[in-house]
Amino acid sequence: MRFIDGHAHIGYTGGWADVGINEEQLIAQMDQYNIEKTALCNENNEITLDLMKRHPGRIIGCVYVNPLNQETVDAMETYFEKGFTAVKLNPLRHAYCADAAILDPILEKAAKYNLPVCIHSGHPPYSLPWQIGLLAERHPDVKIMMIHMGHGHGVYIDAALKMARRYPNIYLEMSGMPMPTKIREAYETVGHDRIMFGTDTPFHHPTVEMQKVITSGLDEEAQQKVFYDNAAAFFGI
Ligand SMILES: [Zn+2]
Repeated sequence: MRFIDGHAHIGYTGGWADVGINEEQLIAQMDQYNIEKTALCNENNEITLDLMKRHPGRIIGCVYVNPLNQETVDAMETYFEKGFTAVKLNPLRHAYCADAAILDPILEKAAKYNLPVCIHSGHPPYSLPWQIGLLAERHPDVKIMMIHMGHGHGVYIDAALKMARRYPNIYLEMSGMPMPTKIREAYETVGHDRIMFGTDTPFHHPTVEMQKVITSGLDEEAQQKVFYDNAAAFFGI
């Protein structure tokens, strides 16, 4: 099997999470688990950029944007030109609603550069699947990754699948979502190309996330799409 990690972080996240991973540990983990490429973000985009430069071909740079901080919105094009190929949004972390109009200029810039947007899901009142559905509805020409596909709550996971079935520009990423069966259900009812593997490193671990796909009931050909092919297509690799 080949692997692309569709969602990961570099650095230390304090507060309640109290988790972190440094550059050396991240690359060692990728090597250990045969992860060829990792879609990576940090709120300081310079940190991600440094890793992209030091590990060419292995880091898919996601520009971290906070719509409440105009400087980060203004900097998007600069980072696209430096090689970032996706946008990262976290409504929970920065306290805005995923369906808010303040996101529109960000999605419009992504559309202009034909780059996908990855957005955290699963936490009320900011990042519920229905809100991401409304965002996707307004921007049908932007590929939107719903990170965690609803996350830990069964009702939200179900809503993530419903929204992805409704809006063809929604793609699901499975890190932190506990139910292997929902990976198979997404593959079968959302689309073979719209569910992908991710670890959310350092919040979750590759071995655990891989087991979810392996025990989902998908055959090896389907697993390969989830583990690699779908993320490669999503990120334009
Ligand atoms: Zn994350």
